[in-house]
Amino acid sequence: MTSSDTTAPARDDPFPSLVDTARFQRNRRIPIPDFAYPEGVKIAVNFTLDFDAMLLRRLLNEPWGQKAKGEFGGRVGVWRIMEMFDEEEVKVTLFTPGRICELYPEVLKDVVQNGHELADHMWEHEVYPDPEIEDAHLTRTLAALSAVQGKPVTGTRSSHTPGLLKSKGVVYNSFSSASDMPFYELDAQGANPILQLPFHYALDDAMYFSFGWLDTPNDAQRVMDVDEVFEIWWAAFLQQYRQGGYLNFLLHPFVSGHAMRVDMLQRLIQRMKTLPGVWFPTCDALARHILTTHPMTPEAK
Ligand SMILES: [Zn+2]
Repeated sequence: MTSSDTTAPARDDPFPSLVDTARFQRNRRIPIPDFAYPEGVKIAVNFTLDFDAMLLRRLLNEPWGQKAKGEFGGRVGVWRIMEMFDEEEVKVTLFTPGRICELYPEVLKDVVQNGHELADHMWEHEVYPDPEIEDAHLTRTLAALSAVQGKPVTGTRSSHTPGLLKSKGVVYNSFSSASDMPFYELDAQGANPILQLPFHYALDDAMYFSFGWLDTPNDAQRVMDVDEVFEIWWAAFLQQYRQGGYLNFLLHPFVSGHAMRVDMLQRLIQRMKTLPGVWFPTCDALARHILTTHPMTPEAK
């Protein structure tokens, strides 16, 4: 655009340039100064499971074989992987669409009984732009999950509107890769701070073990050697451990619930346990610690 271009129509996009966008994103993502874990803890490792089963596959209208993969997650994979976490006494967070309460109620009851956390993952894995529908879906999902859990849900992994989430008691989201450490995120109006517990795609099982279907090219097929992934994840852990950092593993029961992968995760956890100060909290437990010891600073509100 030149200086004579003053007649150019105004754009609806409030952030027309990359620099403006970057500045805006930096201002709304607020690092936590002097971040510290409880006494004796060097690193927190969150194991999170997106318990979608076949819901996302249905939404994307994928072929029957892909939906069957999702069904495996709900009928078999989730039991296998949760049994392993219970053996290792590691507490995890299941981000669960509300619909799963109807599809796999026994799984959720068992998971809660064993001390794990349920958190929101939309009603059927989609956030609708219509605010009324969005509100209805979130309300219904939180009610369904809270009823199973016997206490209110405090977390989400979704793009739900921050103000709506806060009004319903949701205090953290795990839906960002914008930092390596937990941080506070403001909405587009600079309000409604919510704690973000960031994940990273390098710690997402689907990136290594999930694969496309009929029309996808060969290079979209990913079935990696579990030992290779073990080495990548161990190296990621060690690097963060030395720094007193944070890890958030994003697993899917239909992906990691297969025998060799469960076995690899168990070996990974056992090796992590050989080092002192490794904390495996639920996301809710970590969020409680952060919200208590590092509340949102007044100037950032
Ligand atoms: Zn999901």
